[in-house]
Amino acid sequence: MKVEFESTYSRIILKRGLEYYQTGNVKRVVIKDGIVSAIVNGTNTYHVSLEIKVDEILNVECDCPYFYEHDECKHNTAVLYYLKNKISKVNKVIRSVDNRKN
Ligand SMILES: [Zn+2]
Repeated sequence: MKVEFESTYSRIILKRGLEYYQTGNVKRVVIKDGIVSAIVNGTNTYHVSLEIKVDEILNVECDCPYFYEHDECKHNTAVLYYLKNKISKVNKVIRSVDNRKN
């Protein structure tokens, strides 16, 4: 799985998202049926969900107001950094889901 998002997100969001990931704000990451959901703490608590396939991100959502306006935010970026750093584990989970379907 390539988690490719750094070329499409703005630099300030990448920086903030990375900081969020590094300070441990990404909580309760659950990967089920190709959907990654996570809770990201900050000034408020937001829910991020990502729809992923083996090598691509299909859909990203976050319930914060910034995402609503810009289609990107530090919360989902933090979760993407989390996935990027746990990539082999995530790959395994996704593959087992795909195998079950086939
Ligand atoms: Zn957000």
